[in-house]
Amino acid sequence: PLHLSILPDPPLPRPDWVRVQNRLCGICGSDLHQIFLDTGLDVAPVALPAHRRIYLGHEMVGVVTETGAAVTGLSVGERVVRWGRANDCRARGLADLCPPCRRGHRVLCERASEPLAHEPIGGGFGDSFITPAATLLPVPDALSDEQAIFIEPAAVAIHAAFRRPPQAGERVLVIGCGTVGYLLVQALRALQPACHIAAVAQFPWQADLARRYGAGHVFLAGDDGFAEVARLTGGKVYAGRGGNRMLIGGFDVVFDVVGVETTLNHALRWTRAGGTVVLVGVHLHRMRLDVTPVWYQEVSLVGAVGHDVQEWEGERLSSFELAMRWMQSGLLTTGGLLTHRFPLSEYRQAFRAAVDKAQFRSVKVAFRMDNLPISESPNLPISESPNLPISQSPQTQGGCK
Ligand SMILES: [Zn+2]
Ligand SMILES: [Zn+2]
Repeated sequence: PLHLSILPDPPLPRPDWVRVQNRLCGICGSDLHQIFLDTGLDVAPVALPAHRRIYLGHEMVGVVTETGAAVTGLSVGERVVRWGRANDCRARGLADLCPPCRRGHRVLCERASEPLAHEPIGGGFGDSFITPAATLLPVPDALSDEQAIFIEPAAVAIHAAFRRPPQAGERVLVIGCGTVGYLLVQALRALQPACHIAAVAQFPWQADLARRYGAGHVFLAGDDGFAEVARLTGGKVYAGRGGNRMLIGGFDVVFDVVGVETTLNHALRWTRAGGTVVLVGVHLHRMRLDVTPVWYQEVSLVGAVGHDVQEWEGERLSSFELAMRWMQSGLLTTGGLLTHRFPLSEYRQAFRAAVDKAQFRSVKVAFRMDNLPISESPNLPISESPNLPISQSPQTQGGCK
């Protein structure tokens, strides 16, 4: 079903909409879930009505090229990132906001699944798109395009960190060393400089990056995690029958940025009694989970999705505003995270690089939209590409689905 095609530029359907020309757009784990149709049909979100068409690419930075007559706060030529979805109360132009939208957690909008009068057309994986102006935020000049595509994942990481902010002296574990993992390590450090942050990486080069971004200890997914956690926290491992192990003691907070069966089961057992697991990773399948630590150790399991509004130094700021502020002040850095850039016509290679982290050593792969050779690009279904392992279910991460 995946192919590159040329669509005519549609007119703006409402006076509060704008047209945006893309410049750069990161590939997110949630884009890959949709490309590889990596979803069980029996999970909760699938029960909701689907959009007629899904346009991929939300980690974009672009320039406003047209504004409707009623648009305020955005002008032609301004650089923007995508902030919200076109289906929440603000994007619909409603005066009476639902409770989550009123709180500022637009991703949880209660009206998101109601029919839309006008569907947005296009996304970040294309030369341009049209959308309600309320779904965009201007980018400060101080941030480059290469930084701006990390504003959304940084907002996701900040929101996740605020779901259970670390206290001074606490031990925190981040499972998953990809874009959101590295940004989360930095966000936790920004929130609480006096906490101890450990991380779990899949590959040694990811562990090096995690250390560079502030993780004090990193072990690999292939290591004996129970032994590592016991060593790092002073906890004690008990071994039962058939390889069943339990740890008494453990981390105060574990952020599971991968969110698959193995990592979430580990997270629940590696958390101390009364501690918290924050589920950040997106996995759209039912899992076999041992949830006994939730009652047996009173471990709290909380989720984090997208971005919201939080208090910071006496101000109420959206996660996006806080991300931009922290990126400008250097509390969040993204150097070394954008590892690959492809033109849209090389989308097969781009998705391959995003999935195959072992071979490509990729962190963030992005599409660059400069001199798009779209007229020459093949318009073939992706299944005709000989090299892409399409049946492979990529272990992706992210928290923005
Ligand atoms: Zn994302
Ligand atoms: Zn709403």
